[in-house]
Amino acid sequence: MGLLERSDAYWKFLGQCTQCGHCVDACSSLTSANMTLGEIARALLAHERAAGSREDLAARILGDGALMQAVRGCFFCTSCKNTCFAHNDVCDLIYNARVDFQSLGLIERGAWSSVMVDQEWDIFTAYRAIHGIGFADLVRHAESEGHAAETDCAVAFFPGCSLAAYGPDLTREIFATMEELGGKTTLIDHCCGSPLKSAGFFERAEALCDRIADEVALSGAREIVCVCPGCANAMRSTLGRRGLDVAVTLLPAFLTAHGFTGKRALPEGTLCLSKSCQDRDGRYLEETCRALGVEADASTACGACGATGATPGTLGAADGAPGAITIFNGCCGAGGAVSAFDPNRQASQADSKLSFAPDGSTVVTMCPTCTYTYAFRLMSEPRDVANKHYTELLFENQLDWDTVFAQLGGMWSGEYGPWLAQVFA
Ligand code: SF4
Ligand code: SF4
Repeated sequence: MGLLERSDAYWKFLGQCTQCGHCVDACSSLTSANMTLGEIARALLAHERAAGSREDLAARILGDGALMQAVRGCFFCTSCKNTCFAHNDVCDLIYNARVDFQSLGLIERGAWSSVMVDQEWDIFTAYRAIHGIGFADLVRHAESEGHAAETDCAVAFFPGCSLAAYGPDLTREIFATMEELGGKTTLIDHCCGSPLKSAGFFERAEALCDRIADEVALSGAREIVCVCPGCANAMRSTLGRRGLDVAVTLLPAFLTAHGFTGKRALPEGTLCLSKSCQDRDGRYLEETCRALGVEADASTACGACGATGATPGTLGAADGAPGAITIFNGCCGAGGAVSAFDPNRQASQADSKLSFAPDGSTVVTMCPTCTYTYAFRLMSEPRDVANKHYTELLFENQLDWDTVFAQLGGMWSGEYGPWLAQVFA
């Protein structure tokens, strides 16, 4: 092996890139670095050739500000891939580069120490422990005190790390609905491993997904229902790799298939649906629109912002159909753990997405981490827009971000502060 662990991936990418430059035009990070994706691969290989040792290689890459920007400023949003005639796989390139960056010590520990989601403690499990949030009674496939593991579940519910931590009542309400509609349900209350991938621990992320797949298999469930498109993609890829016959469904599709009727009226005013960047082909967006009772209409797409018009409909018995619906694409700013490298880039990305939402409208997100990101941004820079995850439009319980942010902040200054500082040092 050479000095770079993943040089094969860079050679392969370089061989497929014509340096046409379209990807640069699609991305503010590549524009600021003035590098095409192919030039990222080329630069990594050039530094490897010139370096005499791994320490020397790390120093050369660290001194290459454009390369650092291009690799660490990536949201994994794939906007660039959509402009690439060869559909070159940006995620494969940048995930590999992050693995090399991690092993060369180019990603500082503070960027990832609190999101090692395959360990006992990460920011989500610590938040849950400190604030008494637990689901032991719902995790039926796992043995616990006074409870034997159950292996006859029909469905596994995967809310994802953000929703399980920051919306426990909403999580329980969805769980109860799923059980009512789909039969005996168990809860998978892990993270899908996305933060590990962003930090360059790709294999650890895959191992975590393998653990989840094992749990699903043990539970007997033949279907796993995910709230977030990113979790659904991770599980579909893992279950396929493992050859397990378990269907992966996004929650809206599950609800529609079981004739679910939304429990509340849609908000008044314009709904702005923020498409998840994990929803590459728009399939999850369509499923979400269907569950909400609205229909996407690509024929009215906005060329300037990628926004797509949609036809309002009704949500079950709800009589509060919105006046207009807009769908916009692109990352909310949370992808790729960019905030740990360049917080301003994350903030300006969130601002740019929120700027498409007119006053009085409601931004509706598909991934709970997007909801968190917009809530955080709206707390810092208030606007006259509401911010809701799609589950909040369908169920009674709502996310209370004021309380969540107060509790998150208080964790560090309260009695658990020293423990957290030590665990995440
Ligand atoms: S758009 Fe594709 S082919 Fe063109 S420079 Fe970027 S990666 Fe290379
Ligand atoms: S995936 Fe998104 S952030 Fe990353 S290089 Fe492509 S357009 Fe830029």
